[in-house]
Amino acid sequence: MKRLDIAVTGGCQCGAVRYASSQLIDNSHICHCRMCQKAVGNFFAALVGAPNDTLVWTRGAPSVFASSDLAERGFCARCGTPLFYRGIGSPRTGLTIGSLDDPTLAPPRVQVGTEGRYAFIDGLLHLPDVGTTEEDMAEEAPKIRASNHQHPDHDTDNWPLS
Ligand SMILES: [Zn+2]
Ligand SMILES: [Zn+2]
Repeated sequence: MKRLDIAVTGGCQCGAVRYASSQLIDNSHICHCRMCQKAVGNFFAALVGAPNDTLVWTRGAPSVFASSDLAERGFCARCGTPLFYRGIGSPRTGLTIGSLDDPTLAPPRVQVGTEGRYAFIDGLLHLPDVGTTEEDMAEEAPKIRASNHQHPDHDTDNWPLS
């Protein structure tokens, strides 16, 4: 697999755990397998590799759960955000693309674990569109913005945990 000179930062929702990598691997993908579904609480996991030798935990540290003897999953113990998949002993760490500060840096190129793929996946983007949060939750949206505890999509010098 090829290394790409794409620098990324990212982290969990509460801001207790942050990471940076100066490179990514060209393996951006979605995985439909049942273990990935459980680990991210969704229909599939979206992952992109970062070489372990360029990946740095810049704030805090992830907690780790070994989902089998072959793989482990990293997450923030404080807020629960899924942060990575890693094969035990692998030289790379599969970061959850949604935890990147800029997920558009790693558009998925392939899908794997398709034995677990749900038939309804094909229709997801054709569901009735009831609009943006501002439109669909007009009353709540300003209150959410005003009381937002989510870490911003960039590094911070100080971040008070709420
Ligand atoms: Zn967190
Ligand atoms: Zn998987």
